[in-house]
Amino acid sequence: MATPTKNQKMEVLDMKRDTYQMIINGERVNSNSGKTVPVYNPATGEVLAQVADADNYDADQAVAAARHAFDNGKWKRTPVGKRSRVLNKIAALMRERFNELIELEVLNSGKSIGAAHVQVMQSIEDFEFYAGAIVSHRGHVNNVPGQFMNYTQNEPVGVCAQIIPWNYPMMMAAWKIAPAIAAGCSVVIKPASLTPITAIILAEICHEAGVPAGVVNVITGSGKLIGDHLVEHELVDKVAFTGSTPVGKDIMSKASKTLKRVTLELGGKSPNIVFDDADIEAAVDGSLFGIFFNTGQSCEARSRMYVHEAIYDAFLEKFVEKTKKLKTGDPFDQGTHLGSIISQSQVDVIDSYVQSAIQDGATILTGGKAADIEGFEGGYWYEPTVITDVNPDMKVVKEEIFGPVVVVQKFNDEKEVIKEANDSVYGLGSAVWTKDHARATRVANQIQAGIVMINCPFSAFPGTPFGGYKQSGFGRELSIETLDLYTEQKSVLSYFGSRPLNPFGV
Ligand code: NAD
Ligand code: MN
Repeated sequence: MATPTKNQKMEVLDMKRDTYQMIINGERVNSNSGKTVPVYNPATGEVLAQVADADNYDADQAVAAARHAFDNGKWKRTPVGKRSRVLNKIAALMRERFNELIELEVLNSGKSIGAAHVQVMQSIEDFEFYAGAIVSHRGHVNNVPGQFMNYTQNEPVGVCAQIIPWNYPMMMAAWKIAPAIAAGCSVVIKPASLTPITAIILAEICHEAGVPAGVVNVITGSGKLIGDHLVEHELVDKVAFTGSTPVGKDIMSKASKTLKRVTLELGGKSPNIVFDDADIEAAVDGSLFGIFFNTGQSCEARSRMYVHEAIYDAFLEKFVEKTKKLKTGDPFDQGTHLGSIISQSQVDVIDSYVQSAIQDGATILTGGKAADIEGFEGGYWYEPTVITDVNPDMKVVKEEIFGPVVVVQKFNDEKEVIKEANDSVYGLGSAVWTKDHARATRVANQIQAGIVMINCPFSAFPGTPFGGYKQSGFGRELSIETLDLYTEQKSVLSYFGSRPLNPFGV
């Protein structure tokens, strides 16, 4: 193994590097093979840095470190108030490096600086949220017959393998690490191969803030190879996965061999319903953000739009007009709305969906092709795209595209639109635009989705549960309930009567 830089009290110095090492047992380490792989700036197509290319040997090292750190009990037995202070310290150190974190996130993901700004801010707030939440995550005292006593306590579940996607590299790392370490778990986090940098930096910050060695490990490399290995590993207690639905299904079946705890945050095809009594301006602006934020590369992107026939033409005219006004380009330009797509293969996926829609007889109202961005010719870009004349059987209506593409359908009846909205294997996000409070509530009650947004463009804040129904997965993140998913509940039952019990009577 290449010599690790011994660094017990790790300090995060220069964040822009040529090479990023992994974090195992509180040390920066290279891969066992010594191999690295390039990561790119998707806005330019240029190599950004090299990262370690881990194999199963490295994954075993990371798991062993996490196992040891958990079993020695140092972190899980750290008083909860102290753990809370360390989480707040992580947040404070992130705040000190706010602009550098944003810059790294933009460089590695191609997202607009505005998007990176809110996502890094939310990542900081996640640590602050869990610093507070863990203190009041307590057990219960239950009613049992006299002279018995029962209480429950929450104990950390153990070693958690956390596998995350490329669309929110920093925020997904924060959603995973913050509740896990708040609860006293150890983690081995595997960022997406395309976007590992900010997760590595976050782990370094955790160590600088005082998280003991081995509690937060980061391992970089192929998802298929080390992802599988982590999911099947005997010494891993839980898998928390965010990514696509097919990989989620594979993980669930593989995790069953060791009966690991599993939480899955998967794909979506979220409906966005605009009623004729909606505030049209607000609905246009919110629907625009709902699909095009993060360049449509979002699991809860409102990618199926349903518009009431009475306002359909007026709404769509405004919607398309504003779509054309959106600025796609230089991610570091404050005026940019849509940054780049993560990779050429993702551009190809998006375009093949658009082509399938055209073949199926749909109409492209705007966009529909890869974008040419002056000065960023080597990067991966797609125009914000609006498609109509679709029907529920088309691929473009059924499947998650994960790009800046929205399909628009007309409806005339509330019952009918609820049925259509629910006609999906997914159930992650949903949005309703109406001024009628009774209708909004009625629809919210009938939508099969983990999240309903009423006249609201945003899907979550720290504290709101985030997760799906149906094939969008299960488990909730970002909220107080998440702590239940990183803990086991132990029921302690005791007898304190003065007369010894002899239940067999022998
Ligand atoms: P992906 O499923 O291809 O990859 C996700 C992660 O899993 C990556 O780290 C990858 O390396 C790893 N991986 C790949 N194959 C694996 C395997 N066989 N075993 C174990 N790990 C494996 O997804 P992606 O393309 O990175 O991200 C896009 C998907 O993520 C979309 O479907 C999107 O909806 C979903 N997503 C969901 C949420 C949510 O909260 N529900 C949030 C963001 C993204
Ligand atoms: Mn509870």
